[in-house]
Amino acid sequence: MLCDACSVLRFDDAKFGGFEGDCGVLEFPDDEQQQYFDLEYDRRDLLPHLPNLELSANAGCQFCKVLRGSNPYAWLEQQQGN
Ligand SMILES: [Zn+2]
Repeated sequence: MLCDACSVLRFDDAKFGGFEGDCGVLEFPDDEQQQYFDLEYDRRDLLPHLPNLELSANAGCQFCKVLRGSNPYAWLEQQQGN
């Protein structure tokens, strides 16, 4: 599940030239070159505990959980079960 903000991560890769590569993995024609994706993702939160990401993660958004977990302080709280 993704929250409304993170739902921009579901995009049509074919619009950017994406295709299924030899191993069944998503590839792009110029994979070696960086490609810019304008996903209009805008989040604001408060350090160190990121309470907005926590709310969304607790509501079931997997990306918010990963994003919040990448913050050392929030990661420690997750490990301690807070
Ligand atoms: Zn989210």
